[in-house]
Amino acid sequence: MDFQVSARKWRPQKFSELIGQEHIVRTLTNAIEMDKVSHAYLFSGTRGVGKTTTARILAKAINCEKGPCPEPCGQCSFCEEITAGNCIDVREIDGASNNSVAEARELIETIQYAASASRYKVYIIDEVHMLSKSAFNALLKTLEEPPPKVVFLFATTELSKIPETILSRCQCFEFKPLSHKQIVRQLELISGQEGIQADGLSLEEIAKTGAGSMRDAQSLLDQVIAYCGKKIESGSVEEVLGIVGKQALAEFVEHLIKRDSVSLMASVQEIIAEGKDLNFFCRDLAEYLRNILMIKLSDKPETLLDTQVCNLEILQQQAEAFHADELQQMFTVLARTESEMKRSSLAQMIFEMSILRLADVRPFHRIDDMIKTINTLGDDGPSLGREAVTMVPPATSANAPEASPMTAGSVDPLPNMPSSPKADWEKIRQEICKRNPAFNMYLIQCKVVTFDESNLTLGFKDTSTLDRFEDPENLQLVKDTVKSVCKREVNIKLSLNEKTGAKPAGDFDGGPTNNGEKKKIKSYNENRQKTEAEIIQDALDVFGGIVLK
Ligand SMILES: [Zn+2]
Repeated sequence: MDFQVSARKWRPQKFSELIGQEHIVRTLTNAIEMDKVSHAYLFSGTRGVGKTTTARILAKAINCEKGPCPEPCGQCSFCEEITAGNCIDVREIDGASNNSVAEARELIETIQYAASASRYKVYIIDEVHMLSKSAFNALLKTLEEPPPKVVFLFATTELSKIPETILSRCQCFEFKPLSHKQIVRQLELISGQEGIQADGLSLEEIAKTGAGSMRDAQSLLDQVIAYCGKKIESGSVEEVLGIVGKQALAEFVEHLIKRDSVSLMASVQEIIAEGKDLNFFCRDLAEYLRNILMIKLSDKPETLLDTQVCNLEILQQQAEAFHADELQQMFTVLARTESEMKRSSLAQMIFEMSILRLADVRPFHRIDDMIKTINTLGDDGPSLGREAVTMVPPATSANAPEASPMTAGSVDPLPNMPSSPKADWEKIRQEICKRNPAFNMYLIQCKVVTFDESNLTLGFKDTSTLDRFEDPENLQLVKDTVKSVCKREVNIKLSLNEKTGAKPAGDFDGGPTNNGEKKKIKSYNENRQKTEAEIIQDALDVFGGIVLK
């Protein structure tokens, strides 16, 4: 079997065979039927969506012996010659290699001679945006006064590079990228006709890798057939196309959740060592994060995701660990990386740097929330009393609670605390885990500094964990859980501990009698006017940065 023929063999020969461009087909067939074919058309759109194919079908439709008709017969000498690419009156020019002004002139000279045998002389110029400026100018004159019975069909992947003067003299059509389903259906049809046994998942993978281009998808299918023979399985598709498997992708995202840069880099090296394609991986990762975002946004994510390919359960679990805006930021980084990688010889390093950036992405603070926080800090006592959170600046080094790394189960979050709040906190922690399992990772990294009738102070050793707790959604979760476990409203304070000079845990007994602790953490709950310097400090605490003036 000749494996290299899919794209050519399955190239549509009639408008009715063209996939996904119904709006264009309809306009063109109407024009043919009404004998109103324009002298210049411009087809734009991504690669492999049918631009040149449409141009050839149109050339046949207007020149067919039985025509002009919307469906060329495919059998007359004109149709056959055009299909074979040797019709003297239909010239196909590649703009990329014939872009000089001399070539444009030569082309224009030949235009002056009437069609030799057919009805219309047709010029198909592919990648027309590659023509030089002077070549465009030479062409423009012809377009302004087109000779009779000449039709120009321009195709381009980069519409923005076509001069306005040319655009205004053409009928322009934008070709849509093909949908995933359309490509899968075509691949099914082709493999069925060729007697290839392929499971649904592998065709899905091929279509996805083709990224909206039918031609690319078909040549990928060729590659896979060449490797697998008559039976295609999804594992071998991953192997041939250099796609990273679903499980490896899910594991990669787990490292991302833990912000574990070392494991992320190790995974990237592994992917490269296995000979996988980093461009595909970048795209797959972006899509994966997009899917997680869909899960966060929708009550019915199955309507927005391809459940055949996605593992909903894992995605749902991982979605708990991300903020929607983090996912959006990560997606933007990857989208930019994907296009940068294509243009650079440093693709691998660009990818690595981007992955490290992903690990640093943190949720945005909304500016109005931050202003609200600052206003709250500036307010006097009474209004603060109603606020659940009080911003607490870092404790002084001598009094800072121990800043030891904490892991699940290994650290007692309530050293030297009376047993009742201790048991309460344990219950609260378990309850929070039940409601939001992913949050446990942050819970185990905080320490309970005080926990009495009316106050719960949580200490943090790093700002990123503190950030998580400051998120209104998470804070509400903690607050609600405390309320449901302790049956009382508790004021929650978040305190950032300094990393150095940490003292042993004995320093922070809980309980209402611990007046010393209350002094150590400078509370903003004071009933007084703030000085300008303090307000600036508040702003620095919230926004970060330095004072220049
Ligand atoms: Zn014909």
